[in-house]
Amino acid sequence: MTLMRITEYPAAVLSERGKPVKTFDEKLVELCSDMFETMYAAEGVGLAAPQIGLGLRLFVMDCDGIKLIAANPEIIEVEGEQTGPEGCLSVGKVPAVLSRPFAATLRAQDEHGNWFERRAEGYAARAFLHETDHCNGILFIDHLPRLRREMVIRKFRKEKTRR
Ligand SMILES: [Zn+2]
Repeated sequence: MTLMRITEYPAAVLSERGKPVKTFDEKLVELCSDMFETMYAAEGVGLAAPQIGLGLRLFVMDCDGIKLIAANPEIIEVEGEQTGPEGCLSVGKVPAVLSRPFAATLRAQDEHGNWFERRAEGYAARAFLHETDHCNGILFIDHLPRLRREMVIRKFRKEKTRR
């Protein structure tokens, strides 16, 4: 197991669309287990490949009873709305209130390349959406109005200098 360094805003890889995962081999399985370890060590509930500096469409999550690996993720259906705090390991977990759909259906491949669909509600749906966004080069702060976005970035920078 290897703990990876978490890539932080404003690294370019975080705002680039990831490349598709094409090879489902032992290396990918290992990468995913390292990503889980890194996520747990950082006390996160999801981690996408761009967050460890890899421009790949891949994420892992363990949130609200849903633990999965998603390669080439897509959100195929959303329903309703929820509003609540959200944060990101790449933005120092500085929270901001954000509206998202209440439920989301994810379509992705597992570490062996098998396609699956999974529906989630509430917090886990939020994780599906947040992590799929990462694979598309979108950060949660990109959904915020400009002033609130700048506030989160300022707070993150301030906390970073204290670390
Ligand atoms: Zn994130």
